[in-house]
Amino acid sequence: MLSAVTKMEGLFHVHSTYSSDGKLSLEELREECLNRNLKFMVVTDHAEDFTPGKIKKYVNHCREISDEDFWAIPGLEYVIDKEHQVHLLVVNLEGLPFEKGPEAILYAVREGKGSPLAVVAHLSRCDYFIPPDYEQTIDGIEVWNAAYNSRYLPDHKAIDLFIKLKKKNPRLVGFGGLDLHDRTGFRGLRICLKDACRNPNDLLDQLKGGKFIIYGSYFRISSIPRLGSFPLFLLMLGRKIVSRADSCRWRLVSWRRALFSSIFNSDL
Ligand SMILES: [Zn+2]
Ligand SMILES: [Zn+2]
Repeated sequence: MLSAVTKMEGLFHVHSTYSSDGKLSLEELREECLNRNLKFMVVTDHAEDFTPGKIKKYVNHCREISDEDFWAIPGLEYVIDKEHQVHLLVVNLEGLPFEKGPEAILYAVREGKGSPLAVVAHLSRCDYFIPPDYEQTIDGIEVWNAAYNSRYLPDHKAIDLFIKLKKKNPRLVGFGGLDLHDRTGFRGLRICLKDACRNPNDLLDQLKGGKFIIYGSYFRISSIPRLGSFPLFLLMLGRKIVSRADSCRWRLVSWRRALFSSIFNSDL
């Protein structure tokens, strides 16, 4: 029996060993989350790595590791446009024909079946392109992806796109995803619910309704970002500074490594 939890924080867009490139099992992810006081994770393993039987096992496995302390919500990540590399996260497989395989799930989502949460991931990877037939049907887009953008600041171009799309699709919500594949992927980006949450269905409703704030280590943003052109410009500047500082840091690290290795070799 899952109990009510107040002020929940959790992760969105996580990959487990059910993905061919995922390094952490569902159990390891659960443990890492609990160590960070995170109460839920939305797992979105790559759809192309699944057979119908494997999806059933995956959904059951997520149920098995969920209890009063932690909820694992299963989802799949689809490549819906190979040319532009548009990736769609489909969360909440309940009510969808997951026993028939990944393609049947995507078909059912397009037909408006079930109550999935459909979110376009890492917009910078697809050059901010969303296929026109998805613009009205998706529930959200990632306005911050810690793997493709920065762990420190959200993506100003994705926020700009969000503001434009929101006029066509009023239910659109902005998400912050980690795109985590291993232990280095815990980059501090998390979802913090505004209200108490009773169960995983309640959590999904709150995610769909945008009743959360996206928290980074140093910056936070609303799930419905409404930034004007000047704040967006400041964000763009901030991201340039952070990216410059990051590349300087990496240069320093590699110089230090080279220095240590030359000292070590000369000692030999
Ligand atoms: Zn992806
Ligand atoms: Zn991913």
